[in-house]
Amino acid sequence: MTRVAIIGAGPSGMAQLRAFQSAQAKGADIPEIVCFEKQADWGGLWNYTWRTGIDENGEPVHGSMYRYLWSNGPKEALEFADYSFDEHFGKPIGSYPPRAVLWDYIKGRVEKANVRRYVRFNSAVRHIEFNEQTQQFAVSVHDHNQDVVYTEIFDYVVVASGHFSTPKVPEYEGFKSFGGRILHAHDFRDALEFKDKTVLVVGSSYSAEDIGSQCYKYGAKQIISCYRNSPMGYKWPKNWSERQKLLRVDQTHAYFADGTSAEVDAIILCTGYLHHFPFMAESIRLKTDNRLYPLGLYKGVVWEKNPKLFYLGMQDQWYTFNMFDAQAWYVRDIILNRMALPSLSEMQAHTLAWHEEEKTLTDAAQMYKFQGDYILELIEATDYPTFDIEAMRLIFLEWKKHKKEDIMTFRDHIYRSAITGTLAAPHHTPWLDALDDSLEAYLTDTPEVPQKKVG
Ligand code: FAD
Ligand code: NAP
Repeated sequence: MTRVAIIGAGPSGMAQLRAFQSAQAKGADIPEIVCFEKQADWGGLWNYTWRTGIDENGEPVHGSMYRYLWSNGPKEALEFADYSFDEHFGKPIGSYPPRAVLWDYIKGRVEKANVRRYVRFNSAVRHIEFNEQTQQFAVSVHDHNQDVVYTEIFDYVVVASGHFSTPKVPEYEGFKSFGGRILHAHDFRDALEFKDKTVLVVGSSYSAEDIGSQCYKYGAKQIISCYRNSPMGYKWPKNWSERQKLLRVDQTHAYFADGTSAEVDAIILCTGYLHHFPFMAESIRLKTDNRLYPLGLYKGVVWEKNPKLFYLGMQDQWYTFNMFDAQAWYVRDIILNRMALPSLSEMQAHTLAWHEEEKTLTDAAQMYKFQGDYILELIEATDYPTFDIEAMRLIFLEWKKHKKEDIMTFRDHIYRSAITGTLAAPHHTPWLDALDDSLEAYLTDTPEVPQKKVG
């Protein structure tokens, strides 16, 4: 029987499981599937851990999410086309749910599909290589339940191990002698650690914006963010200043390119992540930076030089869960021989054209359109339920506008689902006052008692 290995049971791997199950539910014969997940539960980054560094099995901790993390984009832009928020929660909820609520939503679909039985948990993939003679992959796995390493043979491999987990950690002059804590966003867990402290946030993308906002919300004395190329440019609260790039630090102070300096207690490096696949043999290892259309992957998923290998979710992400679905359904249909692939040179030319177009994009609005068009191209080729990508693009534009208006209140806005037409319900408590990020607190109708936490 044909065997398929899926590496990782995060949202991308779970989408692949659901894609196969949906074909089976419609009467198709599906291959034998084994999903290897190094953690004890599924959900990928959404499966929160307090751990940092090394996990209980001696593996690098995968999690980069933190307490009090709420969705940074509207949930209406990530909704599954085959499993709506209405279906899961049974009532309209807010547009920017906290992590636990989104984790619950992702799990709801795959629990309904009954695909957990395909996942081997506590199973870290150590090595994958392709045998040209047999045209099969050897996948070596460390089963931490039994503490054994074994190898199994597969006909197809789908790598869905994520790319926001291995931190990119620059060093600046003076770091060795700085007197406070230096950490990467990957190891940030709880903003309360920085209450009453002055925090320097290095970087100008989503982690910088959100970790700075967390620190503000939970009572940091002062936030300083610094950028390398361009500022985030929001209207920051009065105890948040944005400066030019960091030049160096000494034991107590940070020094910036605009000539200013400041005494800081902690430095949080929000400097992004590496695409890191140490378990892939060199000839099949994806090497890319964080971009919308990496080279080497036809339709963003097919390893051009060996179309028995696929990578899911390796793009920079405006869209997430529904993009992973579009990809997973597409990969499934190649494995099920439902569609033929063009020649290597045709695949490469197609990828190059998209890759070159990406380079011409100059603003975020063009990027939502680009990634939306990419998703549409994939879903038109499969039976994934089509959905109104244009409506989602307009939601992204609204989101951007609301952030520009007020970075501390944008999460209080609501949008209409492009899948069901349901208008979200305003959350009972403004984001800035909502200090409890639990599922229970979010789904109750009772407002939280506002507390003044800001220092
Ligand atoms: P991941 O979620 O990273 O899952 C990969 C899985 O592979 C993990 O379970 C991991 O344990 C497993 N794995 C890795 N290596 C191995 C191995 N060798 N062997 C076995 N298993 C392995 N997206 C949004 O839509 N909204 C948000 O608000 C949002 N917030 C985010 C906040 C942060 C801090 C970060 C870092 C990302 C955020 N994202 C958000 C984007 C996020 O990338 C996606 O939502 C999603 O988690 C990606 O799914 P994935 O399955 O591709 O990867
Ligand atoms: P990112 O988007 O890749 O951004 C990396 C940032 O680091 C950029 O600003 C980059 O600057 C900067 N940088 C890189 N190397 C640097 C160096 N040597 N010195 C100074 N700056 C450097 O990574 P991210 O912000 O961590 O976001 C990753 C993902 O997590 C995104 O998908 C995001 O949506 C998600 N996320 C979501 C939430 C949430 O609220 N739900 C919170 C955090 C993150 P340049 O622009 O100059 O290159």
